Amino acid sequence: MADIIDIANPTRTQAILNQYGLHAKKKFGQNFLTDLNVLHGIVDVAGITSEDYVIEIGPGIGALTEQLARSAKKVVAFEIDPHMVAVLAETLLPYDNVKVIENDILKVDLAHVIATEFGEGAHVKIVANLPYYITTPILMQLLRAKISWDNIVVMMQREVADRLNAEIGTKAYGVLTLTIQYYAQAQLAIKVPASAFNPSPNVDSAVVMLTPIVPETVVDNPDKLFSVVKGSFAHRRKSLWNNMLQMFGKQEDVKQRIQDALDAVNIASSIRAERLSLNQLTALYEALKLQGLIK
Ligand code: SAM
Repeated sequence: MADIIDIANPTRTQAILNQYGLHAKKKFGQNFLTDLNVLHGIVDVAGITSEDYVIEIGPGIGALTEQLARSAKKVVAFEIDPHMVAVLAETLLPYDNVKVIENDILKVDLAHVIATEFGEGAHVKIVANLPYYITTPILMQLLRAKISWDNIVVMMQREVADRLNAEIGTKAYGVLTLTIQYYAQAQLAIKVPASAFNPSPNVDSAVVMLTPIVPETVVDNPDKLFSVVKGSFAHRRKSLWNNMLQMFGKQEDVKQRIQDALDAVNIASSIRAERLSLNQLTALYEALKLQGLIK
């Protein structure tokens, strides 16, 4: 077989962009990986085998997609930028196990696509060099989607990676930390310097591996739990009490029911949400339900 030069090769990456008259678009968070060691590292961390169905977010010109296609059974990649989709039609030509779907990942019904492309209820691995401007919404969407995933291995800015396992009471501790704790175990797998990308982002990066867990306390409706968590952190500098009033209203009977819920789970109303563990917030959610504040 003739030597194939990897898409990620720095000279080839630049040549592809020049050929199509393209520049990395900031508004789409385009920073193309040009470091093969990092790409191989991502595929290794995800443990991709010829049995695996893979979802990729933001294939760009195909640097990571190509490496995934060489190891996986099938790859489905979502790309928002039509210019990139046109490039991919050529760069991924050698791989017949890749499907590129032009769409905004935040608008995709993942369960539906998985059923259509891989089969009803198929397990997937999710791999991406994420567009950093929407790292958090994408993570939230993946975790809360009703799909079966074996692992999620994604590149993100180091500052967000640090939030995933943040200690209670710290500035980094928040809704993202708690959502991760409910659904997954997060592990920083590879630290990646800015020089691994073209163009170099102005932040440090890290590849994180998420593996699914069964939560310590399962709730009936995680979406409702997390809207309470979100409301509790809405104004971080304010007390839980003030955030609760904002969430449920200031009528006297509502105030009484909030107070009763807090008393039932031994949480002081003056506390700030960042001092509460997932277990405490889950207990509070159940108590608020008993008070009829959450339907
Ligand atoms: N995977 C390529 C790589 O590693 O070189 C490109 C990664 S680049 C950091 C992020 C990619 O996500 C870009 O191709 C960008 O166009 C795409 N993207 C941005 N927003 C998106 C969205 N909402 N849905 C799908 N793709 C998106």
